[in-house]
Amino acid sequence: MKKLVVFFFLLLSGSLMAQQKFALAIHGGAGTITRDRMTAEQEKEYKDKLEESLNAGYAVLEKGGSALDAVGAAIHVMEESPLFNAAKGAVFTHEGRNEMDASIMNGKDLNAGAVAGVRHIKSPIDAARAVMEKSDHVMLAGDGAEEFAETIGLEMVDTSYFYTDRRWKSLQNALKKEKVELDHDEKSTEKKSSFIYSVPEDYKFGTVGCVALDAEGNLAAGTSTGGMTNKRWKRIGDSPVIGAGTYANNATCAVSATGHGEYFIRSVVAYDISALMEYKGLSLRQAGEEVVMKKLVERGGDGGVISIDSEGNIHMPFNTKGMYRGYKKSTGEMKIAIYSED
Ligand code: ASP
Repeated sequence: MKKLVVFFFLLLSGSLMAQQKFALAIHGGAGTITRDRMTAEQEKEYKDKLEESLNAGYAVLEKGGSALDAVGAAIHVMEESPLFNAAKGAVFTHEGRNEMDASIMNGKDLNAGAVAGVRHIKSPIDAARAVMEKSDHVMLAGDGAEEFAETIGLEMVDTSYFYTDRRWKSLQNALKKEKVELDHDEKSTEKKSSFIYSVPEDYKFGTVGCVALDAEGNLAAGTSTGGMTNKRWKRIGDSPVIGAGTYANNATCAVSATGHGEYFIRSVVAYDISALMEYKGLSLRQAGEEVVMKKLVERGGDGGVISIDSEGNIHMPFNTKGMYRGYKKSTGEMKIAIYSED
């Protein structure tokens, strides 16, 4: 009899679980990503990694895990892959270093954590979560962030772990272009930084991010990046800035961004999408279109976002030629795409 009760209880909770909606979306960066610039093998490599990341996050949600854990699991896969500009494969600064930023936010209690300019933490997204859960602060930077990470036992690695030939070459190209610009422009010594004010037309933003809704109805968002190639003066972009590159609120949505960080900070992109939903009653789609396809475009800000609301609706708007992206829902729907026409 007791066994029978337990059996029915399990059956009931199983079917309740099945009715609960859960879903996640990921991005691996936006930019000038067009079909003619990619080989079939490269395309496959990216799609396979995006699928692996989606599946890692989905597996957490399927077992009843939290949106926060799903965000971490999905981002780990991309942080560990040299394909994306986060952790391994991070872009290089002007001085030839990898300086990484990450943030995470819990939509349930609006708690958040971030790290900026870290150089030895194997998983910056884990460090962001640790700041949120194990410190009294929201954002830690540089040496202090590393000291904190080490103290609480996060894995630290030599800077060579993050190195990839491909990103090193990108830096050399950027430095060469800068030199050409300087050679051709007599007044260019007055120029503060070609990087900050103009991004080459063929620039790709390779930041990674994930937004998730778990079976309990909680939302979370996370973003991890190496920033932008040739950045200098300890420049920090939008990715670790709560409200700009990352935001989550159970009452509205969860958002993770990728793009030209300066514009995303000034436009407070992630929070603006949430605020349009909260104060103006816009849908997730309407809010994303307004911010990414109108406001940002008018201001000259290239990039995109992935977003999810408490109903599990997903919207992934971007104003560049492409964005590595995908989603997977408990309804069985799944999509992995790269180009705007996908
Ligand atoms: N948003 C990032 C930054 O500005 C770059 C990216 O999305 O790849 O640092």
